[in-house]
Amino acid sequence: MRVEQLKAARPDLSGMDTAKSDFENFSMYGFTIDYPSACRVEFNSKSRRESGDVGFTLPDSVKVFLSWGELEKVTKRFATADEHANYSLDAMKKGKNVKNFERVSRDSISLHDHNTSVNKVRFDEKALKIFGRGKDVPREAYSLHVHCDKSNRYFVLYAMAPVGGNVTYEKIIETMRDSFNCH
Ligand SMILES: [Zn+2]
Repeated sequence: MRVEQLKAARPDLSGMDTAKSDFENFSMYGFTIDYPSACRVEFNSKSRRESGDVGFTLPDSVKVFLSWGELEKVTKRFATADEHANYSLDAMKKGKNVKNFERVSRDSISLHDHNTSVNKVRFDEKALKIFGRGKDVPREAYSLHVHCDKSNRYFVLYAMAPVGGNVTYEKIIETMRDSFNCH
């Protein structure tokens, strides 16, 4: 995606209370992504070009993860990014703190000629009943799976956010997703 398109696609973040107002560019090992400048960026020091991860934490602790790995490792099991995503979402659905899991949308983005899968799900995170009470917390999770045959890597962009409030997590994540370039 070109820079001009990115700028045009940038959301108005004036209603946000978790990030300042702009995005900066993170780039390494041949991939790039824009992140809100207010984020704490945590790079896994064991990361290599072939596999690794980086986390972008918003001031309110919502985290966006970007991980990557060798493409062959996943294409052995999943023919497409969609199958890969289905597997990840199924594993999430089976989580013992997860209930009322619902797939809200499923899409793909245009990124070179790659196979991509974009998903949004909603679920309730079961409350910890340590003191015999507590409310389940509604959550939304966003993900992007990309199979990049040019760099022989897969990429997963993932974020889980609380539902409601005035923070536009979805827009933040969309902006990050739309800025992502894998090679
Ligand atoms: Zn690529």
